[in-house]
Amino acid sequence: MRIVVKVGTSTLAHKTGRMNIRHVESLVKTLSDLKNAGHEIILVSSGAIGMGVGKLLLPRRPEDVPTKQAAAAVGQCELMYTYDKLFSDYNHTVAQILLTAADVQDEKRRTHFENTIFRLLELGALPIINENDTVATEELVIGDNDTLGAIVAVAAKADLLILLTDIDGLYTADPRVDPGAKHIPRVERLTPEILTLGGGKGSGLGTGGMATKLTAAQKAMEAGLDMIICNGEDPAVLYRIMENEPVGTYFVGRREQA
Ligand code: GLU
Repeated sequence: MRIVVKVGTSTLAHKTGRMNIRHVESLVKTLSDLKNAGHEIILVSSGAIGMGVGKLLLPRRPEDVPTKQAAAAVGQCELMYTYDKLFSDYNHTVAQILLTAADVQDEKRRTHFENTIFRLLELGALPIINENDTVATEELVIGDNDTLGAIVAVAAKADLLILLTDIDGLYTADPRVDPGAKHIPRVERLTPEILTLGGGKGSGLGTGGMATKLTAAQKAMEAGLDMIICNGEDPAVLYRIMENEPVGTYFVGRREQA
């Protein structure tokens, strides 16, 4: 299977912005093992800005564009350095791809991107993708990595998109504030009711939240691609997905009518 795994800042970093070493190590170990089992893995990793905040000892996630872009420039290095080091321990080679909206909107550039991804997979490398936050400007920004994950998964003709986050999938309300919130295990169609469950923003350091995950679901499902939102607290959840266990919320991609 060709799988795109998107991991959010809430999984990769502590609230301080410093790396969550336990999560990152177990993510890398699990992805390496899935690759050893014959799956093709593409990782869409957030965390550049979050980790830049930690490394530069900034008191919080910056609001202004230059500081955000500076933090991303620092944090992206830290991210790739760590991935390269940890994946090397399991004999896997990583490749960094940084994209902006212009790269996916322009057909020629998108084709170059697709060709690179396919060649990297043929070469056995593990592409790690993020938005190029340092140059992405407001007018031309993808804006969040859930959407980027869906764009990448569709372009790479993946079989499955998995969004790892800090919550067990989609609920009828925000379970952090409403104890009566019910978990939704499966979504066959994105009805207006489901789309209103998007709610507000996610964690303090990341960009997403449920709204961007539902946008990603929409893109994926329209392209006939299945998507799962699940909790990345224990990345071993990926093994359970591979064994077809019900985990998180499963969004069923549109199938061609017979
Ligand atoms: N590209 C951003 C980063 O690496 C993350 C965007 C997001 O959180 O969705 O920090």
